[in-house]
Amino acid sequence: MAERGIAIMTLEGVMRSYRQAGGTLDVLRRVSLTVNAGEMVALVGPSGAGKSTLLHTAGLLERPDAGSVVIDGQDAGRLSDGERTELRRTAVGFVYQFHHLLPEFSALENVTLPQMIAGVPKRQARERAMELLEGVGLAGRASHRPARLSGGEQQRVAIVRALANRPKLLIADEPTGNLDPHTAGEVFEVLKGLVRGGSFGALVATHNLEIANRMDRILELRDGAVVQR
Ligand code: ADP
Repeated sequence: MAERGIAIMTLEGVMRSYRQAGGTLDVLRRVSLTVNAGEMVALVGPSGAGKSTLLHTAGLLERPDAGSVVIDGQDAGRLSDGERTELRRTAVGFVYQFHHLLPEFSALENVTLPQMIAGVPKRQARERAMELLEGVGLAGRASHRPARLSGGEQQRVAIVRALANRPKLLIADEPTGNLDPHTAGEVFEVLKGLVRGGSFGALVATHNLEIANRMDRILELRDGAVVQR
């Protein structure tokens, strides 16, 4: 388990361009940043600035054109495709604006399944899922399918599902962006409590400056580079 304050994700000189009609679009020009264990870092910037591209690159869903991505001490650029996938599966958790829970399964099953896919025995996976749901105030909702949960409850399930396999890094892309301001604040506090109580670091893209201000640091993506605000 990573110790708090230790770098769990480092991007160094990351570049990423997209080919478009009429030329290339340089979305990330030279991005360098670090997220430490126990830390919550906000990523802000206008729509189209490249936040999702940065998160996908940091989360090993996309490869950079240049530069390095180091997660939990492993330089992803030096890994085979299979090793990269394994590092992503074991070390990174993702939360999106929409919960993406499996609609046919209960909250408990949604948090149990990723653990079983990772090889955890069913009983143990269910116990951990129940503990995680209890920890975010959803013990009484464990048997409900996503459609029977409120938006805030759905996001709380999505957050603990992302943490079920004990990732070192949590990547969240507008995790409260689909919620009303009050619920967004509540869900953010739940997430913050989990970071404070755990040993993982979180990189959280948000448009909500009030929420960004409640994190440990704010990074702004501007003209393809990251600046500390
Ligand atoms: P943000 O998350 O800050 O809104 P994105 O990372 O989604 O920004 O997008 C940054 C820019 O890159 C946008 O102009 C977008 O249109 C472009 N872009 C994103 N993904 C692709 C892609 N797969 N192919 C081409 N252009 C893309």
